[in-house]
Amino acid sequence: MADWTKRTRAVHAGTRRSQYGEVSEAIFLTQGFVYDSAEQAEARFLKAGEDEFIYARYGNPTVRMFEDRIAALEGAEDAFATASGMAAVNGALSAILKAGDHVVAARALFGSCLYILEEILTRFGVEVTFVDGTDLDQWRDAIRPGTKAVFFESVSNPTLEVIDIRAVAELAHAVGALVIVDNVFATPVFSDALAQGADVVVYSATKHIDGQGRALGGVILGTRDFVRKVAEPYLKHTGAAMSPFTAWVMLKGLETMELRVRAQAACAQELAKALVSDGRLARVIYPGLPDHPQHALAMAQMGAGGTVLSIDAGSQEAAFSLLNALEIITISNNLGDAKSIVTHPATTTHQRLPAEQKAALGITPGLVRLSVGLEDPADLLADIRRGLAAM
Ligand SMILES: *Cc1c(COP(=O)(O)O)cnc(C)c1O
Repeated sequence: MADWTKRTRAVHAGTRRSQYGEVSEAIFLTQGFVYDSAEQAEARFLKAGEDEFIYARYGNPTVRMFEDRIAALEGAEDAFATASGMAAVNGALSAILKAGDHVVAARALFGSCLYILEEILTRFGVEVTFVDGTDLDQWRDAIRPGTKAVFFESVSNPTLEVIDIRAVAELAHAVGALVIVDNVFATPVFSDALAQGADVVVYSATKHIDGQGRALGGVILGTRDFVRKVAEPYLKHTGAAMSPFTAWVMLKGLETMELRVRAQAACAQELAKALVSDGRLARVIYPGLPDHPQHALAMAQMGAGGTVLSIDAGSQEAAFSLLNALEIITISNNLGDAKSIVTHPATTTHQRLPAEQKAALGITPGLVRLSVGLEDPADLLADIRRGLAAM
């Protein structure tokens, strides 16, 4: 496997065949595993081997196939699959933090990530400093000797700021802090986060990994020591496990992810360009556009602008008129799906935030997030133009 590219790994890595030699991965829809003898049970509880399982909350052959495949894709030594992306984010942070620890995080975060850092970790005595993730001086000022971890989304939701993984990692590693990156918007296809300095990468597998809106899932990737000795004890005892059925859905998702994500990103690039030249929008935000503030970084770090773009219709009224006129693109809140989806963050995903915080994050009343799917780009553009005409 060492010389396989990501595309080949996504199809074959981690496959475990049963005695029946099935082509498609088997779903081991079992919660437990039997032992030949009491002695074997004792030995397995003492130390389970590669192909030995005890209980599905600890591990399961279908889930292990998914973990091995995504680890191979990401270039990680190991992975632990979780029931949702949030279980992965919470697990990666809670497994390492204790009262009195200090964390530095980017301010522009997915709503639930912000809730964990702002409301939950602080309740357990963890100190969290928030910074503008694109401003390296703020990271430099906030990271101090003893800082335990830094956390950020490599591309932020929904304002699509790109954070310099290599530069932040250098500052964090100078004080021995662990770099945890929520890499959803970069996708495993465009990610090279571990090589760029991340210690731990987390994904919501709900997004591009499934890519077809079927199942919730998540994954934590890192060194074998981190995954098995630090993350796993926390995750297996607190019940974050991914279900075997979900793991099977995710395995099938990985097989087509590269094709889907590249097509979606190419379409996003085409739409962003067309919407800029259309001229009716106050703003078009897409890391693949030359005028994006971190365009050069996005190209160096990911080689593409991703599958999501954000547009500013100017006001909430205009944004709502645009959304309500769409016939192909659906109003929902998933992203990375085969179906194109629009979201109005200010009134949905980020509704909870006070007005000043929304303003500070650039979540304006007219902001609309567009997750680009697999439809024909010409049909999508016609649909968006229908929305623009209704504004
Ligand atoms: C969706 C998302 C999550 C949460 O994932 P779930 O699977 O919904 O729990 C976390 N971070 C980012 C950036 C996301 O987009």
